[in-house]
Amino acid sequence: MSQVLVVADLVDGAVGKPTLELLTLAGRIGDPVVVVFGEATGAVAARLGEYGATRVLTVTDPAVTDYLVAPKAEALAQIAATTTPAAVLVTSGAEGKEVAARLAVKLGSGLITDAIDVAADGSTTQSVFAGSYAVHASVTQGVPVITVKPNAVTPEPAAATPAVESFAVTISDQAKGARIVAVEPKQASGRPELSEAAVVVSGGRGTGGNFDEVEQLADSLGAAVGASRAAVDSGWYPHAYQVGQTGKTVSPQLYIAAGISGAIQHRAGMQTSKAIVAVNKDAEAPIFALADLGVVGDLHTVLPAVAAEVARRRS
Ligand code: FAD
Repeated sequence: MSQVLVVADLVDGAVGKPTLELLTLAGRIGDPVVVVFGEATGAVAARLGEYGATRVLTVTDPAVTDYLVAPKAEALAQIAATTTPAAVLVTSGAEGKEVAARLAVKLGSGLITDAIDVAADGSTTQSVFAGSYAVHASVTQGVPVITVKPNAVTPEPAAATPAVESFAVTISDQAKGARIVAVEPKQASGRPELSEAAVVVSGGRGTGGNFDEVEQLADSLGAAVGASRAAVDSGWYPHAYQVGQTGKTVSPQLYIAAGISGAIQHRAGMQTSKAIVAVNKDAEAPIFALADLGVVGDLHTVLPAVAAEVARRRS
């Protein structure tokens, strides 16, 4: 069976859900071989094995791990040269897409970005124009390099025992143009990662800039906090929390939209949520057309009441 390269995206040294999703897609095409930039602990290898990784290749050379994207693309090209993979799968994100693009150029391959599904023959589905169209595409030249949006598929366990091997690479001076000089851990919010959370509470312009009630409801539910672009552009919440076409794509079990009108660009990032609850004081707000449960009311009243009720039932 042919091998499929999966580029691991480790979060604080642990395997994130998007990598497990890539493994599930890779397993449809061939034997998933995971590339880890940095050390792969026993726990990391075991986790990757639970979702079908047959090999784990670690690249620990500081010429890769101490630099930004260019050395990673060079390293992947060298790995691809020895493994002749049927495809290379990378998580869509700023870094992932840049690495993938550079890799595709080096391999003389076609590149598909932001896929939401990958079939056994390597063909992909993309959702474009804010979810209005599904595009089916295949790479016609070289090794398909595909970036996949987080939350595109549900990870499926497929037990395997991967061999962990160190892969030696040679990195050119040209690729070492931008070195990482400091890494500061983000202040932990104690909340789950937005792209992976089972419950997301998002606030929009209707918050008026006060996210306290959104955060309190999120904390009562063990949820992540999200925001609309209007809230982010107003400087009320950091950009990393923006949900939508130009932000994160989320697909939680429950998505609560508070003070968000439901513009098509926002919906593009959350419309695959399993259950959607909208709180909006305008009964005509477009978000209600999408909502499984709509509450017409002032979020400053509704959110604290829900948080209090959740706390009461949990006590
Ligand atoms: P508004 O549309 O202003 O809606 C605010 C809502 O809050 C209204 O429905 C109002 O009735 C309600 N409200 C007001 N006060 C209260 C209250 N006290 N209680 C309850 N409800 C209240 N947007 C995104 O979100 N994500 C994206 O990734 C994104 N990408 C974009 C990309 C492009 C190329 C473009 C052109 C736009 C993009 N947008 C994106 C912007 C998008 O078009 C909307 O402008 C934005 O989503 C609106 O945010 P909002 O719903 O918070 O604000």
